Amino acid sequence: MYTQIEGNVYTIQVPLPDNPLRNLNSYVIKGERRSLVIDTGFNRPECREALTTGLDELGIDMNRADIFLTHLHSDHSGLASEISGESTKVYVSRPDGEIMRRNFFNGIDKTQEYRAFGFPEDEIARQNDSPAIKYSQRVLPDFTFVADGDIIEYGGHRMQVISTPGHTPGHLCLYDRANRIMFLGDHVLFDITPNITCWMGFSDPLGHYVHSLMDISTYDVRVPLPGHRAVSCTVAERIGTIIEHHGVRIREMLDVLRENPGLSTYDLSGRMSWRVRGKTNSWADFPLQQKWFAVGETGAHLEYLLCRGRVRREFDGRVWHYFDS
Ligand SMILES: [Zn+2]
Repeated sequence: MYTQIEGNVYTIQVPLPDNPLRNLNSYVIKGERRSLVIDTGFNRPECREALTTGLDELGIDMNRADIFLTHLHSDHSGLASEISGESTKVYVSRPDGEIMRRNFFNGIDKTQEYRAFGFPEDEIARQNDSPAIKYSQRVLPDFTFVADGDIIEYGGHRMQVISTPGHTPGHLCLYDRANRIMFLGDHVLFDITPNITCWMGFSDPLGHYVHSLMDISTYDVRVPLPGHRAVSCTVAERIGTIIEHHGVRIREMLDVLRENPGLSTYDLSGRMSWRVRGKTNSWADFPLQQKWFAVGETGAHLEYLLCRGRVRREFDGRVWHYFDS
């Protein structure tokens, strides 16, 4: 099933079973010559069924359509190769494309990273339960790399690629200046806060993210189109709230560290307040999947403070321990 946003711009709701994000908003720009599909859903049957049904109903022939991936996460990229026709281009940023390539050929092993965060071994052993791994692409597309400032045109919409690193190292937004439409991916979401986590080879993700938010706040956006859920205020208002949220978390983190010097990222996460599915949960009943997100996010906040000399850390040969400096 699809919904018309306006003119030849449509959205297909792709369900994400057992996932707090609920749905992915896949967007379609229907063109006479070629169409564009923006983000796809996990590589699992429920997603494939919803996406291909919507594309069929819209009369999209994937032999005359290209795909734009806002970022590498499997809930956005998982079906790209599955639905591609023979001539389909799959646009993505070089940093995210290279990470997907590396993960595809080398697999993902987060053992060292999770150990350094202070995860217990039994939880590290379950890392392959992650949907990021289970529902990723089985065939790697031949990516077409796009970068900040590039222009692509589909169905009369001339769109500028905007680099917005933070949520992933190479996250992209797409802006149609004439119609003031912005495809936001997971850069700005409205009733959930985009997850910011740690990356190998991409330092200070939260610093990059806040910078990218400031950048997007300068655009005139009439129709914001996020990757998940609905829109509830202007992009600029939402950006203000997201930046304030990270400020509150960082201050809470510094307070906890002052009281408990030497905590690991994992133990610090356990002492922070978290809301899962609308309730405040204790760390002990936290689902493991949410723990990976939470600890990654704590890590990104600690890295932000570390880069600015506000915390220091010591390595005991296995785990990093953090101190207020
Ligand atoms: Zn994402």
